[in-house]
Amino acid sequence: MTKDTDHEALHREINAKAAFAAKNLLLVKGLYDGIEINDDMGRLVEAKLRAASVGTFDCYCIGCKKETPFIISAMPVVHSGGGLRGGNALAQPPSVFAVRSVCQRDLKTYIYVFEKSKDRLTKIGQTPSVADISFGELNGIEGTLDSLDRKELGKAIGLFAHDAASGAFVYLRRVFERMIRRAHDRRIEGGTPAIEDFDRMRVDEKIKALSAELPDRVVKNSAVFSVLSAGIHELADEECLTLFPVLKAVIFQMLEEEEHKRRKKIVERETDAAFQALLSKSSNTAARELPATKSPDSKEGACREGI
Ligand SMILES: [Zn+2]
Repeated sequence: MTKDTDHEALHREINAKAAFAAKNLLLVKGLYDGIEINDDMGRLVEAKLRAASVGTFDCYCIGCKKETPFIISAMPVVHSGGGLRGGNALAQPPSVFAVRSVCQRDLKTYIYVFEKSKDRLTKIGQTPSVADISFGELNGIEGTLDSLDRKELGKAIGLFAHDAASGAFVYLRRVFERMIRRAHDRRIEGGTPAIEDFDRMRVDEKIKALSAELPDRVVKNSAVFSVLSAGIHELADEECLTLFPVLKAVIFQMLEEEEHKRRKKIVERETDAAFQALLSKSSNTAARELPATKSPDSKEGACREGI
Protein backbone atom coordinates (compact mmCIF):
# COMPACT_ATOMS: atom_id res chain seq x y z
CA MET A 1 0.00 0.00 0.00
CA THR A 2 2.79 2.41 1.03
CA LYS A 3 4.85 1.31 -1.96
CA ASP A 4 1.89 2.02 -4.24
CA THR A 5 1.38 5.45 -2.66
CA ASP A 6 5.10 6.26 -3.04
CA HIS A 7 4.98 5.10 -6.62
CA GLU A 8 1.93 7.25 -7.34
CA ALA A 9 3.56 10.30 -5.71
CA LEU A 10 6.70 9.81 -7.81
CA HIS A 11 4.58 9.39 -10.92
CA ARG A 12 2.72 12.64 -10.14
CA GLU A 13 5.99 14.49 -9.54
CA ILE A 14 7.51 13.31 -12.83
CA ASN A 15 4.32 14.23 -14.66
CA ALA A 16 4.24 17.71 -13.10
CA LYS A 17 7.91 18.30 -14.05
CA ALA A 18 7.28 17.21 -17.63
CA ALA A 19 4.15 19.40 -17.89
CA PHE A 20 6.15 22.37 -16.55
CA ALA A 21 8.93 21.81 -19.11
CA ALA A 22 6.34 21.52 -21.89
CA LYS A 23 4.63 24.79 -20.88
CA ASN A 24 8.03 26.48 -20.62
CA LEU A 25 8.77 25.45 -24.20
CA LEU A 26 5.38 26.79 -25.33
CA LEU A 27 5.32 30.08 -23.47
CA VAL A 28 8.86 31.15 -22.55
CA LYS A 29 11.35 29.71 -25.02
CA GLY A 30 11.87 31.48 -28.30
CA LEU A 31 11.96 30.21 -31.86
CA TYR A 32 14.61 27.58 -32.69
CA ASP A 33 15.07 26.89 -29.01
CA GLY A 34 14.16 23.42 -27.81
CA ILE A 35 14.82 20.51 -25.47
CA GLU A 36 16.93 17.37 -25.62
CA ILE A 37 14.76 14.26 -25.94
CA ASN A 38 17.40 11.58 -25.52
CA ASP A 39 16.25 10.65 -21.97
CA ASP A 40 12.96 9.58 -20.33
CA MET A 41 12.07 13.11 -19.20
CA GLY A 42 12.67 14.57 -22.68
CA ARG A 43 10.56 11.86 -24.28
CA LEU A 44 7.76 12.42 -21.74
CA VAL A 45 7.75 16.17 -22.50
CA GLU A 46 7.48 15.39 -26.21
CA ALA A 47 4.63 12.92 -25.57
CA LYS A 48 2.78 15.50 -23.47
CA LEU A 49 3.07 18.14 -26.19
CA ARG A 50 2.02 15.75 -28.95
CA ALA A 51 -1.02 14.65 -26.91
CA ALA A 52 -1.73 18.24 -25.69
CA SER A 53 -1.70 16.88 -22.17
CA VAL A 54 -0.30 19.77 -20.13
CA GLY A 55 -3.48 21.00 -18.45
CA THR A 56 -4.94 24.53 -18.44
CA PHE A 57 -2.49 27.42 -18.07
CA ASP A 58 -2.61 31.20 -17.75
CA CYS A 59 -1.11 33.31 -20.52
CA TYR A 60 -1.41 36.95 -21.66
CA CYS A 61 -4.22 37.09 -24.27
CA ILE A 62 -3.78 39.78 -26.96
CA GLY A 63 -7.56 39.65 -27.56
CA CYS A 64 -8.71 40.13 -23.94
CA LYS A 65 -5.63 42.26 -23.11
CA LYS A 66 -5.02 40.44 -19.83
CA GLU A 67 -3.90 37.09 -18.39
CA THR A 68 -6.55 34.47 -19.14
CA PRO A 69 -6.80 30.67 -18.90
CA PHE A 70 -5.87 28.80 -22.09
CA ILE A 71 -6.49 25.17 -22.97
CA ILE A 72 -4.51 23.33 -25.62
CA SER A 73 -5.31 20.74 -28.25
CA ALA A 74 -3.12 18.69 -30.59
CA MET A 75 -2.97 19.57 -34.30
CA PRO A 76 -1.32 16.81 -36.33
CA VAL A 77 0.47 18.12 -39.44
CA VAL A 78 -0.64 15.90 -42.32
CA HIS A 79 1.94 15.13 -44.97
CA SER A 80 0.30 14.44 -48.29
CA GLY A 81 0.48 15.43 -51.91
CA GLY A 82 1.75 14.37 -55.33
CA GLY A 83 4.68 12.00 -55.67
CA LEU A 84 4.38 10.42 -52.22
CA ARG A 85 4.67 6.75 -53.10
CA GLY A 86 6.16 4.02 -50.94
CA GLY A 87 9.95 3.90 -51.25
CA ASN A 88 10.09 7.51 -52.42
CA ALA A 89 12.42 9.63 -50.26
CA LEU A 90 9.67 12.23 -50.03
CA ALA A 91 7.53 9.69 -48.17
CA GLN A 92 9.88 10.04 -45.17
CA PRO A 93 8.99 13.55 -44.02
CA PRO A 94 10.56 15.29 -41.03
CA SER A 95 8.53 14.73 -37.89
CA VAL A 96 6.55 17.97 -37.45
CA PHE A 97 3.51 18.57 -35.24
CA ALA A 98 1.57 21.57 -34.02
CA VAL A 99 -0.31 22.53 -30.87
CA ARG A 100 -3.20 24.99 -30.65
CA SER A 101 -3.95 26.90 -27.46
CA VAL A 102 -7.24 28.74 -27.08
CA CYS A 103 -8.25 31.54 -24.69
CA GLN A 104 -11.25 30.46 -22.64
CA ARG A 105 -12.76 33.95 -22.70
CA ASP A 106 -12.68 35.05 -26.36
CA LEU A 107 -11.39 31.89 -28.11
CA LYS A 108 -8.26 33.70 -29.35
CA THR A 109 -5.98 31.04 -30.86
CA TYR A 110 -2.22 30.75 -30.47
CA ILE A 111 -0.39 28.12 -32.59
CA TYR A 112 2.99 26.52 -31.90
CA VAL A 113 4.88 24.22 -34.32
CA PHE A 114 7.62 21.73 -33.38
CA GLU A 115 10.10 19.63 -35.30
CA LYS A 116 11.59 16.45 -33.91
CA SER A 117 15.07 15.39 -34.96
CA LYS A 118 16.96 12.39 -33.57
CA ASP A 119 17.74 13.83 -30.13
CA ARG A 120 16.01 17.14 -30.05
CA LEU A 121 12.58 18.77 -30.16
CA THR A 122 12.77 22.31 -31.61
CA LYS A 123 10.15 25.04 -31.62
CA ILE A 124 10.08 26.12 -35.29
CA GLY A 125 6.95 28.27 -35.39
CA GLN A 126 4.70 30.40 -33.24
CA THR A 127 1.81 32.81 -33.89
CA PRO A 128 1.18 35.40 -32.53
CA SER A 129 4.90 36.15 -32.14
CA VAL A 130 6.54 36.63 -28.76
CA ALA A 131 6.96 40.32 -29.71
CA ASP A 132 3.22 40.72 -30.46
CA ILE A 133 2.32 39.15 -27.11
CA SER A 134 4.86 41.34 -25.28
CA PHE A 135 3.64 44.53 -26.97
CA GLY A 136 0.10 43.51 -25.99
CA GLU A 137 1.25 43.74 -22.37
CA LEU A 138 1.66 47.49 -22.93
CA ASN A 139 -2.11 47.75 -22.33
CA GLY A 140 -3.07 49.43 -25.56
CA ILE A 141 -0.51 52.25 -25.48
CA GLU A 142 1.73 50.65 -28.13
CA GLY A 143 0.09 52.83 -30.81
CA THR A 144 1.24 56.02 -29.05
CA LEU A 145 4.85 54.94 -28.49
CA ASP A 146 7.66 57.05 -29.91
CA SER A 147 8.56 55.34 -33.22
CA LEU A 148 12.23 54.83 -32.27
CA ASP A 149 11.23 53.36 -28.88
CA ARG A 150 8.81 50.98 -30.58
CA LYS A 151 11.38 49.93 -33.18
CA GLU A 152 14.11 49.27 -30.62
CA LEU A 153 11.80 47.58 -28.10
CA GLY A 154 10.68 45.32 -30.96
CA LYS A 155 14.31 44.49 -31.75
CA ALA A 156 15.07 43.85 -28.06
CA ILE A 157 12.09 41.52 -27.61
CA GLY A 158 12.82 39.75 -30.91
CA LEU A 159 16.48 39.18 -30.04
CA PHE A 160 15.58 37.95 -26.54
CA ALA A 161 13.04 35.56 -28.07
CA HIS A 162 15.85 34.17 -30.22
CA ASP A 163 18.15 33.67 -27.25
CA ALA A 164 20.43 36.60 -28.13
CA ALA A 165 20.32 38.19 -24.68
CA SER A 166 23.35 40.49 -25.04
CA GLY A 167 22.04 42.03 -28.26
CA ALA A 168 18.57 42.41 -26.71
CA PHE A 169 20.09 44.16 -23.73
CA VAL A 170 21.80 46.81 -25.91
CA TYR A 171 18.46 47.95 -27.36
CA LEU A 172 16.67 47.84 -24.01
CA ARG A 173 19.40 50.03 -22.53
CA ARG A 174 19.00 52.60 -25.32
CA VAL A 175 15.23 52.80 -24.72
CA PHE A 176 15.79 53.15 -20.97
CA GLU A 177 18.40 55.92 -21.46
CA ARG A 178 15.97 57.90 -23.65
CA MET A 179 13.27 57.57 -20.98
CA ILE A 180 15.63 58.93 -18.34
CA ARG A 181 16.48 61.82 -20.70
CA ARG A 182 12.75 62.56 -21.22
CA ALA A 183 12.17 62.55 -17.43
CA HIS A 184 14.93 65.18 -17.14
CA ASP A 185 13.34 67.24 -19.95
CA ARG A 186 9.93 67.07 -18.19
CA ARG A 187 11.55 68.35 -15.01
CA ILE A 188 12.98 71.37 -16.89
CA GLU A 189 9.63 71.98 -18.66
CA GLY A 190 7.97 71.96 -15.24
CA GLY A 191 10.15 74.89 -14.19
CA THR A 192 12.76 73.03 -12.09
CA PRO A 193 16.37 73.82 -13.03
CA ALA A 194 18.36 71.25 -15.04
CA ILE A 195 20.51 68.86 -12.99
CA GLU A 196 24.14 69.91 -13.05
CA ASP A 197 26.49 67.53 -14.87
CA PHE A 198 23.53 65.30 -15.73
CA ASP A 199 25.18 63.90 -18.85
CA ARG A 200 28.25 62.80 -16.92
CA MET A 201 26.32 60.96 -14.18
CA ARG A 202 26.07 57.18 -13.94
CA VAL A 203 22.61 55.71 -14.54
CA ASP A 204 21.93 55.07 -10.83
CA GLU A 205 22.97 58.66 -10.01
CA LYS A 206 20.61 59.99 -12.69
CA ILE A 207 17.77 57.89 -11.24
CA LYS A 208 18.38 59.28 -7.72
CA ALA A 209 18.55 62.85 -9.02
CA LEU A 210 15.24 62.35 -10.87
CA SER A 211 13.45 60.60 -7.98
CA ALA A 212 10.47 62.98 -8.19
CA GLU A 213 9.89 62.20 -11.87
CA LEU A 214 10.44 58.41 -11.89
CA PRO A 215 8.34 55.50 -10.54
CA ASP A 216 9.10 54.59 -6.89
CA ARG A 217 10.07 51.06 -7.89
CA VAL A 218 12.85 52.37 -10.14
CA VAL A 219 14.14 54.79 -7.51
CA LYS A 220 14.11 52.19 -4.71
CA ASN A 221 16.03 49.73 -6.90
CA SER A 222 18.40 52.21 -8.51
CA ALA A 223 21.36 49.95 -7.65
CA VAL A 224 19.96 47.31 -10.02
CA PHE A 225 20.15 49.80 -12.85
CA SER A 226 23.76 50.70 -12.13
CA VAL A 227 24.54 47.69 -14.28
CA LEU A 228 23.35 49.77 -17.23
CA SER A 229 26.43 51.95 -16.79
CA ALA A 230 28.66 48.95 -17.40
CA GLY A 231 29.67 48.16 -20.93
CA ILE A 232 27.72 45.29 -22.44
CA HIS A 233 31.01 43.41 -22.89
CA GLU A 234 31.33 43.32 -19.08
CA LEU A 235 28.04 41.45 -18.70
CA ALA A 236 27.85 37.70 -19.09
CA ASP A 237 25.04 36.33 -21.25
CA GLU A 238 23.45 34.81 -18.15
CA GLU A 239 23.37 38.20 -16.40
CA CYS A 240 21.68 39.70 -19.45
CA LEU A 241 19.15 36.85 -19.50
CA THR A 242 18.32 37.43 -15.82
CA LEU A 243 18.16 41.23 -16.07
CA PHE A 244 16.23 41.48 -19.31
CA PRO A 245 12.73 40.51 -18.02
CA VAL A 246 13.13 42.79 -14.97
CA LEU A 247 14.20 45.78 -17.06
CA LYS A 248 11.54 45.09 -19.66
CA ALA A 249 8.82 45.05 -16.98
CA VAL A 250 10.10 48.34 -15.51
CA ILE A 251 10.38 50.00 -18.92
CA PHE A 252 6.81 48.94 -19.77
CA GLN A 253 5.60 50.38 -16.46
CA MET A 254 7.46 53.64 -17.14
CA LEU A 255 6.07 53.88 -20.68
CA GLU A 256 2.55 53.44 -19.30
CA GLU A 257 3.17 56.18 -16.73
CA GLU A 258 4.57 58.50 -19.42
CA GLU A 259 1.47 57.91 -21.53
CA HIS A 260 -0.78 58.45 -18.50
CA LYS A 261 0.96 61.81 -17.81
CA ARG A 262 0.68 62.79 -21.49
CA ARG A 263 -3.06 62.02 -21.55
CA LYS A 264 -3.57 63.84 -18.24
CA LYS A 265 -1.89 66.94 -19.69
CA ILE A 266 -4.16 66.84 -22.77
CA VAL A 267 -7.28 66.47 -20.59
CA GLU A 268 -6.15 69.37 -18.37
CA ARG A 269 -5.45 71.57 -21.39
CA GLU A 270 -8.83 70.73 -22.93
CA THR A 271 -10.62 71.35 -19.62
CA ASP A 272 -8.87 74.71 -19.20
CA ALA A 273 -9.83 75.69 -22.76
CA ALA A 274 -13.45 74.65 -22.13
CA PHE A 275 -13.56 76.70 -18.90
CA GLN A 276 -12.08 79.71 -20.72
CA ALA A 277 -14.67 79.39 -23.49
CA LEU A 278 -17.43 79.09 -20.87
CA LEU A 279 -16.15 82.11 -18.94
CA SER A 280 -15.81 84.33 -22.02
CA LYS A 281 -19.27 83.18 -23.18
CA SER A 282 -20.89 84.07 -19.85
CA SER A 283 -19.07 87.42 -19.65
CA ASN A 284 -20.22 88.22 -23.21
CA THR A 285 -23.77 87.27 -22.26
CA ALA A 286 -23.54 89.42 -19.15
CA ALA A 287 -22.16 92.28 -21.23
CA ARG A 288 -25.06 91.92 -23.65
CA GLU A 289 -27.69 91.50 -20.97
CA LEU A 290 -26.57 94.33 -18.69
CA PRO A 291 -27.30 97.21 -21.06
CA ALA A 292 -30.26 95.30 -22.44
CA THR A 293 -32.03 95.59 -19.07
CA LYS A 294 -31.36 99.31 -19.11
CA SER A 295 -32.46 99.87 -22.67
CA PRO A 296 -34.45 96.93 -24.10
CA ASP A 297 -35.37 98.86 -27.25
CA SER A 298 -31.85 99.46 -28.59
CA LYS A 299 -29.75 96.39 -27.71
CA GLU A 300 -27.12 96.92 -30.42
CA GLY A 301 -26.51 100.51 -29.52
CA ALA A 302 -26.29 99.62 -25.85
CA CYS A 303 -23.66 97.02 -26.60
CA ARG A 304 -21.60 99.49 -28.52
CA GLU A 305 -21.94 101.88 -25.65
CA GLY A 306 -20.82 99.16 -23.29
CA ILE A 307 -17.73 98.56 -25.42
ZN1 LIG B 1 -8.71 36.14 -24.67
